Amino acid sequence: MGVFDHAEFDNHESLHYFHDVATGLQAIVSIHSTALGPAAGGTRRWVYRTDADALTDVLRLSRGMTYKNAVAELKFGGGKAVILASDAAPKSRELFAAFGRAVDSLGGRYITAEDVGCSVEDMRWVHEQTAYVSGLPQSGSDAGGDPSPWTALGCFEGIQAAVQSRLQRSSVEGLRIAVQGVGHVGLYLCRLLHEAGAELFVADVNSENLKLVSAEIPVTVMAPKDILYADVDVLAPCALGNILTSVTIPNIKAKIIAGAANNQLSTAMDGALLTARDILYAPDYVINAGGIISVAAEYYGNSSEDEVRADVSRIKDRLQAMFDESRATGRPTNELADKLARDIVAAAR
Ligand code: NAD
Repeated sequence: MGVFDHAEFDNHESLHYFHDVATGLQAIVSIHSTALGPAAGGTRRWVYRTDADALTDVLRLSRGMTYKNAVAELKFGGGKAVILASDAAPKSRELFAAFGRAVDSLGGRYITAEDVGCSVEDMRWVHEQTAYVSGLPQSGSDAGGDPSPWTALGCFEGIQAAVQSRLQRSSVEGLRIAVQGVGHVGLYLCRLLHEAGAELFVADVNSENLKLVSAEIPVTVMAPKDILYADVDVLAPCALGNILTSVTIPNIKAKIIAGAANNQLSTAMDGALLTARDILYAPDYVINAGGIISVAAEYYGNSSEDEVRADVSRIKDRLQAMFDESRATGRPTNELADKLARDIVAAAR
């Protein structure tokens, strides 16, 4: 399948393939839209079964970033990068330097940051080659740095809003919450939920990450294959996307799905399946915008940490409005979010 007839092609502005002989780097940068500003979105380093899988992922993720940045009212368009991880291209300073040169060659149309498989440290090597990167270590009360705690905070407050809306409860205290994936965001989210009195169930395919969370917080560890179907009040997906499908949705017991993972719905139609089952879904790119809000503040250099906190806090208000409208109209929350995002981008064009 080519690009223009690809099922996930959605009038993306441009697509860029990069290869570096010395480090084995293979990367794709997808720029979905620059209508609202330079295309911003993190870099995912992942083992893809095929190039075609990497292309599908980057096309979906970059469109999601356009929608996320629009709804979060940021001066960013949407883009994303994937680095194809393999034994032939191990993680190294040189690999990220080569990637930094690739980003730089786009002249600022794409701004990168960390995502799954990349860290703040990795972005430092990217930064040695280009200014078009954010999510770098910061000092003092400057905004920025690792976006994950901000993503987790937005998710935590979004879960509280969903709990109020669907369960009419003012706190998560005593609720059973399943967290799928306890990496950067999942671990921070578990801390916040535990402090607020939730009972936690977790799963991860990485045993080191499970050890870290279990050493710090009382959690029940579940098998990765079972976590989606846990008998809980809230399911918080914080691993990878494509998990809410016509196959998985009928077996989900949670009444709320609200978590950080990008592209949770396999197709937009799956949002309607959730609504039909009276499962309240917090649209992924609305609830997980905390990180990009921090990245934007760092990149534009005009905000303090307190201002970022206040902006992240607005995520729950946006969600609350979508939950209310969904209840009043019966329309799935993902449809409402997509319409809002498309309207904002269309107005900018
Ligand atoms: P991460 O790589 O640090 O953590 C992801 C975790 O999920 C890892 O521990 C991994 O082992 C685990 N995992 C992968 N497949 C799994 C499976 N099938 N079952 C259970 N666990 C599995 O990534 P992260 O930065 O924490 O991001 C998590 C999700 O949130 C991603 O989808 C990412 O795109 C999204 N997101 C992250 C941020 C951020 O600020 N980091 C912002 C917005 C969205």
